[in-house]
Amino acid sequence: MQEAPQEKKSLKEQKEEKAEIEALKKLMGMQSAKKKKSKKKKKQKEETKQEITKQEEEEIKIVEIPELITVRELSELLDLPVNTIMADLLKRGILATVNQTIDPEIAVQIAEEHGFLAELKTEEEVMEKSVKEDLEVVNNEDESENLVERPPVVTVMGHVDHGKTTLLDTIRNTDVAAKEKGGITQHIGAYKIKLDSGKEITFLDTPGHEAFTTLRARGSKVADIAVLVVAADDGVRPQTIEAINHAKSAGLPIIVAINKIDKPGADPERVKRELSQYELIPEEWGGDTIMVPISAKTGENVEELLENILLVAEILELKANPEKPAIGTVIESKLDPKRGPVATVLVQNGTLKRGDYFVAGLTWGKVRAMFDDRGNQVKEATPGTPVEILGFQDVPQAGDRFVVMKSEREARQLAEQRKQKYEEELLAKKAKLRLENLEGAKEVNIILKADVQGSLEAIIKTLEELSDKFEDVSINIVHAGLGAITEGDVMLASASNAIVIGFNVRPDSAARKASEEEGVEIKTYGIIYDIIDELEKALKGMLEPTTREEILGSAEVKAIFRVKGVGTVAGCLVIDGVIRRNAKARLVRDGVVIYDGEVSSLKRYKEDVKEVTKGYECGLTLKDFNDIKPGDIIEAYEIVEEKTEAT
Ligand code: GDP
Repeated sequence: MQEAPQEKKSLKEQKEEKAEIEALKKLMGMQSAKKKKSKKKKKQKEETKQEITKQEEEEIKIVEIPELITVRELSELLDLPVNTIMADLLKRGILATVNQTIDPEIAVQIAEEHGFLAELKTEEEVMEKSVKEDLEVVNNEDESENLVERPPVVTVMGHVDHGKTTLLDTIRNTDVAAKEKGGITQHIGAYKIKLDSGKEITFLDTPGHEAFTTLRARGSKVADIAVLVVAADDGVRPQTIEAINHAKSAGLPIIVAINKIDKPGADPERVKRELSQYELIPEEWGGDTIMVPISAKTGENVEELLENILLVAEILELKANPEKPAIGTVIESKLDPKRGPVATVLVQNGTLKRGDYFVAGLTWGKVRAMFDDRGNQVKEATPGTPVEILGFQDVPQAGDRFVVMKSEREARQLAEQRKQKYEEELLAKKAKLRLENLEGAKEVNIILKADVQGSLEAIIKTLEELSDKFEDVSINIVHAGLGAITEGDVMLASASNAIVIGFNVRPDSAARKASEEEGVEIKTYGIIYDIIDELEKALKGMLEPTTREEILGSAEVKAIFRVKGVGTVAGCLVIDGVIRRNAKARLVRDGVVIYDGEVSSLKRYKEDVKEVTKGYECGLTLKDFNDIKPGDIIEAYEIVEEKTEAT
C-alpha cells in the first residue's frame, strides 16, 4: 500500500487506460446484445469514468462479478451494506431479498455506479482461476500459516514384466498404518502408506503407466514423482524409453528402481550404462539421478527406495492447505450396479468432507460416503489422500477436475452449464461433419458404450489408431459412455447417422425397439479385437458376414436356489421368445454383461426340458457360473451361419 507517489500515478494511468478499453469493449458488446440499454449504459460508463478521474487519490478497485451472485455476495464483494444494494435494486424496480440472485448485468451496473471497474466472469472462468491458484498453492501471507506438508504422489512406470505390480504390492505391505486402519486391501486406483517415521507417500496403483498417460492426456497433473522400474536382468526396453519420455515431458523427477537384483542374471551396472544414454546418469557417475537396486520380490532395499522418494519430495516442498474446501482429480470411475456411479478422487488441496457438494467434469454430486484404500468409511480426506466416493449424479471421467462448491445449487448449475457447452460443441462438430460429407469425405460415426472406464478408453484409443490407418476415412466417436445401451443412445445414433457399439453391455428393451424403428445398427462385442477387426474389414469393404447372432429369447430371474452338487439354480420367467437347453446365454445385470456362456440345464418343475417359451416359468443353471441374482436377465442366443453367395 505504501507506494511512491510517482509509481502510484503511473499505475493509476495504466488502470485508467484499462478502464477505457474495458468500457469500450463492454459498450461494443452491449450494443449488439441489448440495443435499448446501450444509451443509458454509455452514459453510465462515462459517468463512472468521470468519477474515476475525479477521485484522483482513491485506488480504482477492479471486481470480477460471477454469473451467479446473490445480493449478499455482491454486498460482500463491493464491501457495501446489504441495504445499499437493495436500494440500488429498488431504483430499478427490483425487490430482492438478501439471498436472491441478481441479474449479473445489473450487478455489473451497480458495481460501476459505486466506482468499481466491474468485469463479468462466467462461473467457469472464476472457478478455473481459483482452481489454478489452489493447485499451485499460492504462498500468500494469509495462507502460509495454514500450509502443511502433503504426501508426494508417485507413479510407477516401466516396461511390462519388469516388476511394477510386484513393487506396488510390496510397498503396500510396508504400510505401518494398515494395522490401525484394518479392513481389506481395496484396489481403488491409488493408495497411501505411512512409514515408521510417520511420513506418508501416495502411490497411483494402476499397473503400467495407463493411469498416468490417461490423466496427462486430459491435462491433469497428478503425480509429483515417477519411479522408473527397470529389470536388472533385462535392461532398458521400448516401454522403459516411453516411460522416460512421458515423465520428462510432464516435468517429473525420475527415481530409478533397478529391480530383480536377486536374480542370477542381474546386471545393475549394465542398466546404469543403458540409462545414461537417456540422460539418466547415476549419482556415483557424477549425475543427479537416484538409482536404487532393489528386489520387489524379496523386499530388499525397498525401504531405501521409499526414503529416496521422501528425499526428493522434501526438495519439491509439497504443501497444501487443509483448511480449504477440497479440490482434486478423478483417478478412476465406474458404474457400480448396486452403488451407482463410483469414483476414486485424489484430494490435492483442502479437505474433503462427507456432505460436501462438488462438480467433476460434466457431472456433480454430494459426497454421500467416502472409503479409504482399505474399504473403511471415512468422514474426511486430507491433501494427498485417495478416496472412493459415492454420490455422483453421473459417472465422471478419469482426469476430471473435482472441485467442492459452496452449495448444491452452484454445483448443479455449473455442471449443467458445462454439459450444455459440451453438447453445443458436439452439435457444432456434427454440423461440420455434415459439411465435410458434402465434400465427399467418408466417415464412420460411432456411439460407444462399455461396462468400465478402462475398456472404454482402450477402445477409443484403438479406434483412433484405426482412424489414423485409413487416410480417407474418419472415425468419429459421437458419444462414449458407461452402462447399458439406452433409447437415448439410439436416438442420438439416429440423429447423427451413427452405429452403436456396445462392449460387454446390452441394449435395454426400449433401446432395441427404438433401434428397429429408427433403423439404427447396434453391435455388441465382448472382445476389443473383434470390434477393430470387423470395422477394419468393413472399411476395406471386405466384410463377409459368415456368422450372425440370433437372439432366441430372454428370461428374468425371480428367485435363486442353491442346490448341493449342482450350484445356483435360477428360477426364471421367460419374458420373451424361447430359452433352450445348451443355447448360448448371457447374464445381464443392470444392462451390463456379467457372464457369457451357455445354459447347461433347463427344467420345468422337476422335468428336464428342451425349451421353455414366453410366459412360462423354468429353473435353469448356467455353465460354470453361480453368481446369479434375482432381477438378472438371462438372454439366450444362437450363432447362425449366413450363406453368402461367392462372387
Ligand atoms: P509388471 O508387468 O511390470 O507389473 O511386472 P510384475 O510385477 O507383474 O512382475 C513380472 C514378473 O516378474 C512376475 O512373475 C514377478 O513375480 C517377477 N518379479 C517382479 N519383481 C521381481 C524381483 O524383484 N525378483 C524376481 N526374481 N522376480 C520378480
